[in-house]
Amino acid sequence: MPKIVVIGAGPGGYEAAIRAAQLGADVVLIEKGKSGGTCLNIGCIPTKTLWKTAELYEQVKHSSEFGINLENPSINMPSVKERKDYVVNRMNTGVDFLVQSYPNIEYIEGTASFKDDNTVIVKTADGEKEVSGDNFIIATGSAPLIPGFEGSRLDNVITSTELLDLDYLPKSLVIIGTGVIGMEFASIYTSFGTDVTVIGSDLLKAADGEVTKRIQSIFKQKGMKIQKGYRASKIEKTENGLKVVAENKKGKVIEAEGELVLLAIGRVPYTEGLNLEEIGVETNRGGVVVDSNLKTNKPNIYAIGDCIAGNTQLAHIASAQGLNLVEYLMGNTPHIVMDVVPAATFTLPEIAQVGKTEEELKEEGIEYDKSKFLFSGNGKAVSMGETDGFVKILASKDHEKILGVHVFGPHANDIVHLGALAMANDLSVAALNRTIFAHPTLSETFMEAAHGLEGASIHSA
Ligand code: FAD
Repeated sequence: MPKIVVIGAGPGGYEAAIRAAQLGADVVLIEKGKSGGTCLNIGCIPTKTLWKTAELYEQVKHSSEFGINLENPSINMPSVKERKDYVVNRMNTGVDFLVQSYPNIEYIEGTASFKDDNTVIVKTADGEKEVSGDNFIIATGSAPLIPGFEGSRLDNVITSTELLDLDYLPKSLVIIGTGVIGMEFASIYTSFGTDVTVIGSDLLKAADGEVTKRIQSIFKQKGMKIQKGYRASKIEKTENGLKVVAENKKGKVIEAEGELVLLAIGRVPYTEGLNLEEIGVETNRGGVVVDSNLKTNKPNIYAIGDCIAGNTQLAHIASAQGLNLVEYLMGNTPHIVMDVVPAATFTLPEIAQVGKTEEELKEEGIEYDKSKFLFSGNGKAVSMGETDGFVKILASKDHEKILGVHVFGPHANDIVHLGALAMANDLSVAALNRTIFAHPTLSETFMEAAHGLEGASIHSA
């Protein structure tokens, strides 16, 4: 059996290690920080824990509509942070337990650096250790991108890592960056009651145009200030905090003041200290260059997840790449379809998508049919008091292929998987419409949208 050495125990690395162990490989998993990586410790999981508090708080503020009397609810940030830490620690313990339950995984706490193509040196608390292997999987993740402009390293200019650890509620927050991470924090902190300003070139640009248009007006109604079309160029200290200066393409300059400034302009592959250049592994701006089999220019060194040059940085992509790669290394045929990738955005309301947007289909000259079903026509959504949003299905003209699914509203991030399942398995619209959906459920919105493609939606006029 081959010996596989995995560097980094994020969702890419630890899942690859476990699957390799299940398939009988000898595995070494090396992690310099905590298991679970960015996602579990300073990314997906803590953000969604804060998101849950924001969602609950919004519901509590409307409790009287549900017949519940609650007076003056407020956010208690030390408790919010305590709960976030509890969730993260609980998940850490779970991952550690899983990894330890495989006798063929050796877990080493330490920082790995390549000595040559077949050996890494791991710096541990007890000194250095040499680890050799047949195959190596680099899964070292990413780090926040810090812009080079003036003031980006001032006190109170922070990244998502620090924002997730706040134990007080800032009065005001300026967020530079209107991608998923920036907008999730903008939505959460607006719900908490912080005065939030977002500055960025294009709001959630990967999402469907109809969705972003509607979500912007919802954000504005909630009090979020949106400065779209601007690039931040400077941060300065002021008497009350910080001031961000930004400019648009026409040279118009705006300023936004805040107690804190969040930098959320993207993340860059993290490969520091791995010694890749020295042993001749090709990189591009720090990202590992791989082929379609995730192989580097060295025959036994592979990479997965955020550390790959140009990879879409999502936890489920890292995991799926790891699982497929390990099957390949163990002589099996990888079976996960890598070009159907759902994306979940935890704003309030949620936004989810899989496949192409209408804008992309038009740009590529692909003809399509579309059907949209509103949550306001769904009994469960009405009973929940969450009627904003819709499910939109885009299908090929002959209805043999689903081309894209866009969901915006309650539990959008779960409903979208009906679309992902259909797309990964090449299901036609007719195949979708053979399925009974339980009533009353939010998933019925997907069923109604699919029926709508055949002119058969019951609850929309
Ligand atoms: P990572 O999770 O970054 O793990 C890499 C690991 O390698 C780290 O633990 C690191 O300590 C270790 N390491 C690095 N160098 C070495 C070395 N030399 N030796 C040993 N160990 C090393 N994605 C989603 O899909 N959904 C979300 O909702 C989501 N929310 C996010 C929210 C935030 C605020 C952030 C920052 C990210 C979010 N992401 C989300 C992105 C997601 O966290 C990443 O895509 C994912 O963690 C990438 O997994 P990975 O295994 O490639 O790397």
